[in-house]
Amino acid sequence: MAKAKSGSLSLEKFTFDESWEEKRKRAERIVEILMETYPREKLLIGDPYRTLVHCIISQRMRDEVTYKVWERLFEKYRDIQVIASTPIGEMQEFLRKNGVGLWKTKGEWIVKASRIILEKYGGRVPDDIGELMRLPGIGRKCANIVLAYGFGRQAIPVDTHVNRISKRLGLAPPRVQPEKVEEYLAELIPREKWIYVNHAMVNHGKRICNPIRPKCENCPLRELCPYAKGMVTDEDLKGRR
Ligand code: SF4
Repeated sequence: MAKAKSGSLSLEKFTFDESWEEKRKRAERIVEILMETYPREKLLIGDPYRTLVHCIISQRMRDEVTYKVWERLFEKYRDIQVIASTPIGEMQEFLRKNGVGLWKTKGEWIVKASRIILEKYGGRVPDDIGELMRLPGIGRKCANIVLAYGFGRQAIPVDTHVNRISKRLGLAPPRVQPEKVEEYLAELIPREKWIYVNHAMVNHGKRICNPIRPKCENCPLRELCPYAKGMVTDEDLKGRR
């Protein structure tokens, strides 16, 4: 089958033959099954600022620990005004005492980002990905998380689960960077379903499509999955991206 390009994205980078049309159809079916399997309860934090702080704390941290610290933080420091006026050293100490890794950097990011949001944006988190990515501690993944979970916008945050599962499912080539994975997913999945992707794949990654030894035999996606059919292997996913 002839391989083709869609914009800057190429089918050449995949390990198996499939047209864009076939891929789009398969992607849509995959997302439908994921949405049925992992319904959208608790999808929105619904507060962009709290989502942003949550995302900063969460970097390289387990979800359960992040959630507890995040709750404690907002019990102690009620809102953006209080956080922005907190000395950076105090915030760092709070995070350190609560077992947060990279507490020094994260403490500085939380206070500085809060000050910028207050001074430059009148206390409202910007809803533009470029503006979000200019805030301390906010990379593309966090910016998309704020858009999807804080504002309820159609965005696809690519974290480690989304990155791995998209590649196993052949929705992104095995050796591309997360930013590129986002582009492939955006190309293949209808826009009105983007908001489900992170939520569903994170759940799927924790329960079934684990990093090591995914439980393909129990997976509702196995008929649609090139990894389950040996067309994408762990070897393909290793090495330089
Ligand atoms: S079939 Fe296996 S590799 Fe494919 S999505 Fe399911 S668990 Fe992951």
